Amino acid sequence: MGTIYCGPLAEQADTYSHEGYAARILPNGAETGTWNYATREFTGYRAHCDCGWRGTTTYPPTDRGEELADGEWDRDHLRPLIDAEAQRHTVTAARLLALTRSLRASLPTTVDEQGRQVLTERGRGALDVVQSLEQLLDELPGE
Ligand SMILES: [Zn+2]
Repeated sequence: MGTIYCGPLAEQADTYSHEGYAARILPNGAETGTWNYATREFTGYRAHCDCGWRGTTTYPPTDRGEELADGEWDRDHLRPLIDAEAQRHTVTAARLLALTRSLRASLPTTVDEQGRQVLTERGRGALDVVQSLEQLLDELPGE
């Protein structure tokens, strides 16, 4: 029922061990990820993670409170794990250049009313991404 991140660097950051969820805070102060008849009455939400991490904020027992607890887990726990892993990786300019060349060679095109070959809407979007990547090639360490 929780959230598991499975995007880039998930395996390296072991995010599969970090299932986040909004735990219910029961009237007796206990916090639980079990949502059933026995836990139907609760006073708020707190961000929890399967690894044992706990959020610091108590959110109201509303849908919005649940969203905020999930957001705290994502922002204050999951993202720092992924960002720390990302700091360990360096993509070389040569690899980025090879990627942009490959993407430019595969941009989808169509033929317009005048018979000219033009990029499709999707192709123009992909070209924007390629150009953003090419701008990264201009960056040097320390800038
Ligand atoms: Zn965790």
